[in-house]
Amino acid sequence: MVKVEKLAIFGGTPVREKPIYYGRQCIEQDDIDAVVETLRSDLITSGPRVVALEKKLCELTGAKYAVVVANGTAALHLAALAAGFKEGDEVIVSSITFAASANCVLYCGAKPVFADIDPETYNIDPESVKKLITPRTKGIVAVDFTGQAVEHDAIRRICRENGLLLIEDAAHAIGTKYKGQAVGSIADMTCFSFHPVKTVTGGEGGAITTDDEQLYRSLMRLRTHGITRNPEEMVHPSDAIWYNEQVELGFNYRMTDFQAALLLSQLGKLDKFSARRKEIVRRYDQVFSGMPEIIVQKEIPESDTTRHLYVIRLNPERLTCDRRQFFDTLYAENTCPQVHYLPVYWHSYYEKLGYEKGLCPNAEAYYQWSMSIPLYYSLTDDEVEDTIRAVKKVVEYYRK
Ligand SMILES: *Cc1c(COP(=O)(O)O)cnc(C)c1O
Repeated sequence: MVKVEKLAIFGGTPVREKPIYYGRQCIEQDDIDAVVETLRSDLITSGPRVVALEKKLCELTGAKYAVVVANGTAALHLAALAAGFKEGDEVIVSSITFAASANCVLYCGAKPVFADIDPETYNIDPESVKKLITPRTKGIVAVDFTGQAVEHDAIRRICRENGLLLIEDAAHAIGTKYKGQAVGSIADMTCFSFHPVKTVTGGEGGAITTDDEQLYRSLMRLRTHGITRNPEEMVHPSDAIWYNEQVELGFNYRMTDFQAALLLSQLGKLDKFSARRKEIVRRYDQVFSGMPEIIVQKEIPESDTTRHLYVIRLNPERLTCDRRQFFDTLYAENTCPQVHYLPVYWHSYYEKLGYEKGLCPNAEAYYQWSMSIPLYYSLTDDEVEDTIRAVKKVVEYYRK
């Protein structure tokens, strides 16, 4: 932990007495009631509420099928397995993302190949993807970074022309639309996360949506040990009521019914969560786009974005500090930022696998100067203004 008090460079009191962090959940009484009611019911692991949640996710995204799982990482793991990624395959992955987007490729024995980001949107750059395709390439894991949809037209064209499967990591992007179409119905498989910091939460939770029946069946089996009750999927079909058969190696990635109840309640509020996030983003954009010391994320007109993160990127030509100093000083103002993310291949585990620095120059430059500032539904107008005041104070201190 950094000794942030030492950085109280202004001598005076910090902008805020109590810290605000970059994200948090919003749990209201009706969310709590939904969970408690489920705890009193007969089925507390996957039951009717998981089924209802899958139906709700289909309605919301327009996808034919949804498979609810224990967390977003499990969703990515199952998607990568259902895609058939295996040893000898290469899968192209965004370089600025949470490690799970690439780990799911490693889980299958395949090799993640890191694509660079667009220097302005921070999403995977289709031109970088094109350059990385080899005869071994089997798919792409594209992340809707901060909630903004990837450039689907370009990415899907690349997939069509090269016979690649597209997994969209939409952990940040529930509620986002691309050209009017909801994220979740665009890629071959779309993975969501319901971790507490994301727009809606189940405590933990994840889901995969798809229009492909084969993929759907495979995801459903893999979620429960590779066991099926469908005689059509069995090697030794039987009509005995008790009979089930393990036909492949799967997992227990089930979600509990009380988490599903919480999520159903939360998804009922997605519109208001989304509207408030958009409102805060507008206010931040209004202020920060007028400051030459700060670079705001470029928005593409195709994406109607429910933003999960608000990233500010420092302009080193206008500031005397580095990112570390800016971050720590802002932290000392009790406006606590976070960095999203280290380029995945900079993690020491990936380094041990042989990935080297310098692979993705835009991603590395982005990482060097960026941080996320508080953005969540229950952030009050006063807290938004405090955050703005804190950023301005730090900018003024370090202005060139
Ligand atoms: C949160 C997140 C995940 C993993 O989700 P969990 O539910 O925490 O397992 C994967 N990818 C991205 C981009 C995320 O932000």
